[in-house]
Amino acid sequence: MDRIAENLNRVKDTLQDGVQLVAVSKYHPIEELQQAYDAGQRVFGESHVQEVTAKEAALPKDIQWHFIGHLQTNKVKYLAPFVTLIHSADSPKLFKEINKQAEKCGRTINCLLQLHIAQEETKFGFTMEEAEEYLMSEELQSLKNVQIVGVMAMATNTDDEEQIAAEFESVRNFFTRMKQSVFADNPNFREISMGMSGDYLIAQQHGSTMVRVGSMIFGERDYSKPFTI
Ligand SMILES: *Cc1c(COP(=O)(O)O)cnc(C)c1O
Repeated sequence: MDRIAENLNRVKDTLQDGVQLVAVSKYHPIEELQQAYDAGQRVFGESHVQEVTAKEAALPKDIQWHFIGHLQTNKVKYLAPFVTLIHSADSPKLFKEINKQAEKCGRTINCLLQLHIAQEETKFGFTMEEAEEYLMSEELQSLKNVQIVGVMAMATNTDDEEQIAAEFESVRNFFTRMKQSVFADNPNFREISMGMSGDYLIAQQHGSTMVRVGSMIFGERDYSKPFTI
């Protein structure tokens, strides 16, 4: 078995029932994604629009492409025809544009609302207050081609596992509160995307239904080289 298939199986062996694995393949070449595909993986996560569109064109059509990176509104149109799930819907403006481009493609795009929970300036997303207000808004109701299927969050990049656990738990509590109120009649609201290579084991103990694991499967990323396929 090749290295990627082995890594993939190792990660899958640690997942609880019902937790979906998103294999985060950004910065890795087509051949490595193909290896993961050959080992049975069908859900891939990418965070750059140019990269994911090139990979989508080159790889088998039954792959489900999840977009997990910060998305600029002017690039939504490139993803709209094929993306399965956008994890990083992080502003009302972006939701509006996703809706517009989805409508043009005659489809409904599933999205996760990204929460900002980390104690870092750089992470995008709604605060819980902003998220609650937006989820209850008429503005969101009017977006007929967007379906919110849950929430996504990233924990602070720290070694403090208690802090990470507390952050994930706060996401679960928010999700549960929304599920019991705004989404009480909407079974589509069901996903909590949280957990990466360094913290997915903690995340799944705090209610994660989707983990986004990259380097544990594909190895370290080389950011110094531009992506080429
Ligand atoms: C890159 C990335 C991941 C995967 O990170 P690893 O540490 O390589 O597992 C997960 N989520 C998001 C949003 C990312 O950008």
